[in-house]
Amino acid sequence: MASISKPTSKPPGSKVASQLEAAQAHCRAQGSRLTAQRKEIYELLLRRGGSAKAYDLQDDMRERHGRVAPSTVYRALEFLMAQHLVHRVDALNTFVACTAGHSAHHPLLLVCSRCQSVTELQDDAAYEAVRSKLRQAGSGFVESDIEVKGVCGKCLALERPAGRHAAATAKG
Ligand SMILES: [Zn+2]
Ligand SMILES: [Zn+2]
Repeated sequence: MASISKPTSKPPGSKVASQLEAAQAHCRAQGSRLTAQRKEIYELLLRRGGSAKAYDLQDDMRERHGRVAPSTVYRALEFLMAQHLVHRVDALNTFVACTAGHSAHHPLLLVCSRCQSVTELQDDAAYEAVRSKLRQAGSGFVESDIEVKGVCGKCLALERPAGRHAAATAKG
């Protein structure tokens, strides 16, 4: 079954706190350690609405701690990605907080070409279909997330204003 969920643009502190708690519990269950630094970088990503470039997170860290090496941020992000807490969006060169469950999964990421929002869609059947087609075509499938460029619902709604003239103004 497919499920769609999006990070909210400005999460309240209580939501971030519960997400951090869930991440901590998830890592403990996996036998991995969400160290204070990894946790802080995850927190900064959540505070930025669940989407940020690595250097934005580095800026946030610098604001709090002074000088911070880029490798510190990248290493933490690598860890968070391995734990399925964070996904990398190559199309935007950003990192997004996973909005699905944190178990192993291959997300389909819809990247809006207008507002650059990222919607995570978890659909194992769709992922397997792409995987199997690529195999049939003789490709050695690379294990990665699938990014789809498109237009998100919000931008679509802006494009199609409600009202009786909407159909008349649409380009044919
Ligand atoms: Zn995910
Ligand atoms: Zn959009």
